[in-house]
Amino acid sequence: MFHVLVSSCLLGNPVRYDGRGAARVHPVLAEWRAQGRVVALCPEMAGGLPVPRPPAEIEPGADARAVLEGRARVLTLDGGDAGPAFVRGARAALQAARERDIRIAVLKEGSPSCGSGYVYDGTHTGARQPGAGVTAWLLRQAGLRVFSEHEWESAQTCLRELEAGLLG
Ligand code: SF4
Repeated sequence: MFHVLVSSCLLGNPVRYDGRGAARVHPVLAEWRAQGRVVALCPEMAGGLPVPRPPAEIEPGADARAVLEGRARVLTLDGGDAGPAFVRGARAALQAARERDIRIAVLKEGSPSCGSGYVYDGTHTGARQPGAGVTAWLLRQAGLRVFSEHEWESAQTCLRELEAGLLG
């Protein structure tokens, strides 16, 4: 049985920058929880950041890869650089995945760590742009299939295919 890495905030844990969770209710998630598949992780907390913490965005013109390579910052609203903590968190997520042979993650969309389809553009104005957060990007590079909380059914289909040996 494969485990699935899930953003801790999606399980309702109060780990977001604002001290809140982002609980989602979905039959696929409920099934996985009942089966004991779910491994919860908050990369930003794993990287050493507190709750609450200033909101952060990958700096304008940069992407997750640049952050991981130390070429770009993750700008906090108070002018700091959370990049090193984001990188530590991404590596911790990858380590957790490897320890359990996890192949699939469902991560919170839009987050500078967990976003898989879009992130905010670094201006702290609410503007989005296509791209991935630092953790999502690193996990994908390592071969994990990364989905957002809007894609539970697709993640379930992928999991079934993996378990049927249809995917590498
Ligand atoms: S880093 Fe990921 S798990 Fe942690 S609060 Fe942000 S979106 Fe949720």
